[in-house]
Amino acid sequence: MPSGKNHLKAELAALGAIALAAAGGNALWAFADWQDQFQPLALIFALAYLFSSLLLSPDLDLARSDPHNRWGLLRHCWKPYAKLFRHRGVSHNPLLGPLSRLFYLGLWAAAVLAGLHYLFAVEMEFLHHWKENLRGAALWALSIGLVLPNEIHILLDRIYSDPH
Ligand SMILES: [Zn+2]
Repeated sequence: MPSGKNHLKAELAALGAIALAAAGGNALWAFADWQDQFQPLALIFALAYLFSSLLLSPDLDLARSDPHNRWGLLRHCWKPYAKLFRHRGVSHNPLLGPLSRLFYLGLWAAAVLAGLHYLFAVEMEFLHHWKENLRGAALWALSIGLVLPNEIHILLDRIYSDPH
């Protein structure tokens, strides 16, 4: 039964292994043309991975959990999610699980941005910049970084299948 902390440890260990492999790859290709592009990609991947490990855990389907607490005051935003999703149900599906959390987070983000825009006339130009920059390899690095820790979590839950 992997507890929240063991989950995080396993996911961070996997990130360490990936980082080592990436550093090895980077050293090998130090003189290759795409070296300049490689480092920001690795950074995007690592940040997305950490964000997902710490804050987008499948165990957000529990009313009280470490990932909830890590959101601080914003943890209340995840209460409807915990109510909506049975523990280890859809939230722990390898495909629908990560999508459900990204979609849920997206709804909150959209609501906050809409509020800022319509109530305080905050410009949303930066969204267009993001959209323009976030394509191809960068989008892949972000997506894989966000989804991979969830897959490790779900896999571990299935290997150690006592309910938790
Ligand atoms: Zn779990």
